Amino acid sequence: MYYKATHNFWVLFLFTIIFFSCKNQSYCDIEYNDVFNEDSAYLYIKNQVDFGARIPNTKAHDSCVIFLENKLKSFGAEVIIQNVELERFDGLILNSSNIIAEFYPDKKRRILLFAHYDSRYYSDMEADNIDQLLPVLGANDGASGVGVLLEIARQISVNKPTVGIDIIFFDAEDQGQPLYMDIYDEKAWCLGAQYWAKNPHVKNYDALFGLGLDMVGGSNPVFARDDNSRYFNNFLVKKIWNLADTLGYGSFFPDKFSKPILHDHVFVSQLAGIRSIMIMDNDPRKTIPYFEHWHTQQDNLQNINKQTLKMVGDVVLNFIYCVE
Ligand SMILES: [Zn+2]
Repeated sequence: MYYKATHNFWVLFLFTIIFFSCKNQSYCDIEYNDVFNEDSAYLYIKNQVDFGARIPNTKAHDSCVIFLENKLKSFGAEVIIQNVELERFDGLILNSSNIIAEFYPDKKRRILLFAHYDSRYYSDMEADNIDQLLPVLGANDGASGVGVLLEIARQISVNKPTVGIDIIFFDAEDQGQPLYMDIYDEKAWCLGAQYWAKNPHVKNYDALFGLGLDMVGGSNPVFARDDNSRYFNNFLVKKIWNLADTLGYGSFFPDKFSKPILHDHVFVSQLAGIRSIMIMDNDPRKTIPYFEHWHTQQDNLQNINKQTLKMVGDVVLNFIYCVE
C-alpha cells in the first residue's frame, strides 16, 4: 500500500483520535439508565422471606416456587419448571425445582442470568449449638439475588434488550454438609445447577456467558473478583467491574481478588460449557469471607440494604443493555 506523505499524516492523525477515543470508552458506552427500582427488588425479597425458609420438602419452598413462576409469567416470560428429586449428602431426597424463564425466546444470541432461591436448613455460623439447628431465612443468601433478577425481569419486559435473556432460579444450592462436619465435598452443593447443567431445558443450549448473583443485599458489600470467575471468564469480570467503576461504584467493586468461590457458576461453566461468573459479597480480608450475617439467624429482611440492591441492579441492567 502506498500513501503520499500528506496522507500519511492524516491517517496517523485520524488513527490517533480513534485510538484515544476508543481507549476512553468502556464496553458499555451508553447513557446511564437509572430505571432499576430498589424498592421493587426489596419487595420481591420480602415476598420470598414471608414464606419462611425455602428449604426443599417444605411448604414454604413449594409456595415460593409458585410465586416465582407466576411472577415471571406476569413479566411475559415463557416459564419452564424442572422438577427433579435430588439427593442430599446424607441420602435425603430433596424434591427440587429449577425455575427457568425465557425472555424473547426467538432471539438466537442469549445471555444467562441466575441466582439460587433455596435457603439453608442449618445456621452454621451461630455460636450456640441449639441455634445452629435453626433454618436460615436467607434474605441476603438466596433471596437478594432472586429479588434483583426479578426486578431486572420486570425492566426487560418493558424495554427490550438486543439479546435474548434466560433467567434461572436454581434450587438446592445451599444444602451441603454442616460446617462442623469439616467436609469439603464440592458435589454436595449447587445440586440444582449441577442437574440443569447436565440436563438443560433446551437441547444444546448455549449462551454468550452466564452471570450469577448471590448475597447482593448486605450493607457495605465488597464484591471482590473471585478466582473461579476470573478463571472461567476474566473478560466478563473486567467488563462488569469496569462498568461498575464507570457508574461510580468502584469502591464496592474493587480491583481485589478472592479465593475461588464454590457456587453455581462453577457447574454452569464446567458442565454446561457456558463461561460464567458471580457477583457476590466476599471480602478476602475477612476471616469469614462473606457478609457478616452469613448462615445465621440475622440473615433477615432487617439487614437488607436498598442502596446495595440499587447498585448491583444498576450494574447488571446497564450491562445487559449494551450486550449485542
Ligand atoms: Zn447462597
